[in-house]
Amino acid sequence: MLDKVVIANRGEIALRILRACHALGIRTVAVHSTVDRNLKHVAMADESVCIGPAPSSDSYLNMASIIAAAEVTDAQAIHPGYGFLSENADFAERVEQSGFIFIGPRAETIRLMGDKVEAIRAMKEAGVPCVPGSGGPLGDDNAANIKIAREIGYPIIVKAAGGGGGRGMRVVHTEAHLNAAIQTTKSEAKAAFGNDMVYMEKFLENPRHVEIQVLADGQGNAIHLGERDCSMQRRHQKVVEEAPAPGITVEQRAEIGKVCVEACIRIGYRGAGTFEFLYENGRFYFIEMNTRIQVEHPVTELVTGIDLVREQLMIAAGRKLSIKQSDIVLDGHAIECRINAEDPETFMPCPGLIQHFHAPGGPGVRVDSHIYEGYRVPPNYDSMIGKLIVHGPDRDTAIARMRVALSEMVVDGIKTNIPLQQRILSDAGFQQGGMNIHYLEKRLKEQKEKTISIV
Ligand code: ADP
Repeated sequence: MLDKVVIANRGEIALRILRACHALGIRTVAVHSTVDRNLKHVAMADESVCIGPAPSSDSYLNMASIIAAAEVTDAQAIHPGYGFLSENADFAERVEQSGFIFIGPRAETIRLMGDKVEAIRAMKEAGVPCVPGSGGPLGDDNAANIKIAREIGYPIIVKAAGGGGGRGMRVVHTEAHLNAAIQTTKSEAKAAFGNDMVYMEKFLENPRHVEIQVLADGQGNAIHLGERDCSMQRRHQKVVEEAPAPGITVEQRAEIGKVCVEACIRIGYRGAGTFEFLYENGRFYFIEMNTRIQVEHPVTELVTGIDLVREQLMIAAGRKLSIKQSDIVLDGHAIECRINAEDPETFMPCPGLIQHFHAPGGPGVRVDSHIYEGYRVPPNYDSMIGKLIVHGPDRDTAIARMRVALSEMVVDGIKTNIPLQQRILSDAGFQQGGMNIHYLEKRLKEQKEKTISIV
């Protein structure tokens, strides 16, 4: 087993990784910025190293500082969590070149999947169904682009090859707007991702977001752990996730899961990963692969009983996958609500001091959060302060448990999106299940209009 791991992240995921390490008897090194000295996992880690000032570019994105922290603490491996450097192929490469284990796929896999154009090409070759699209980067020839768009059929979506986090995308409904949309997306992509390559896809109008979790040991063994539905989104960002996805049959799961497993083996995938699909009219369309642990991984853990971070650590230690596909049996239903420090009406981030905190509990309730009474949420990072996850024998019970858990949860001193989550969980459409990726924004818009008309 690994002896000592550097946790190159912060917040709830850093704590999640620390817990998995300690349960395996692995010692931990927390690396943190100056404003993050009081993070819960920093207090619990065996060692901690301050790697720089508050801006993430100087701390959590500072490759040299993180690798130096691994050197001075004599650690063996670095876990990148999600976000920050987790999908940075150069970082993975530098970690391995410095003699440490990068807990994730090989750098070349991260590089391949980080370029969405290349990723789609590779997945098509591996037999994964993709969204009809340009199949390659768009050039500067306006006439040629118009031709591609006509063949695909409007509406289309222009997407940055290096995009992420729901940014770098633009929907085009008519030919008249195509060229301008391509140019704007290109310049935005250049500024945001340092890469102005863009491509085109059919814009699916009513899809759901359904993704498949995989585990592979890089030694020829891979399994899938079923799917998650992450269709409740705002600005392409997930708000509520669940497993299994409502309405997906055992046969559909087995079929798309097998395709993903075969693709993993073909590209020599190593570690935990997610194949993201849009799902419309009973068909799956690959959009991208995430080569890291995801925020929503706990819903899969609750329905499969498998600790995904533990498996990441075992794979990084060179162990062969000990779980077989036939061991994966889905039990009941799990739902996750992301809890953000933000205004539930305006969505403006709301950092500050947490004066009171009461975590919910009871059967099937899990709280993955680093916050505590007296903790100050810094303004420098993502506004997510934790995740509330519930499990039940069926979807209705899971919803009921989540509603009770949300009503029990108290975070005083700052505003949170708990009221928004309560509205979602009591919404008739959500309760019915299987809503598409536009549903939440549509409902929010309706509510806003209603409030205005009442005023
Ligand atoms: P990112 O890496 O930024 O998360 P994705 O390619 O995963 O980008 O897309 C994020 C979200 O954008 C999807 O979950 C979906 O809501 C929307 N989206 C992306 N591609 C399409 C498409 N072809 N049609 C409709 N919606 C899309």
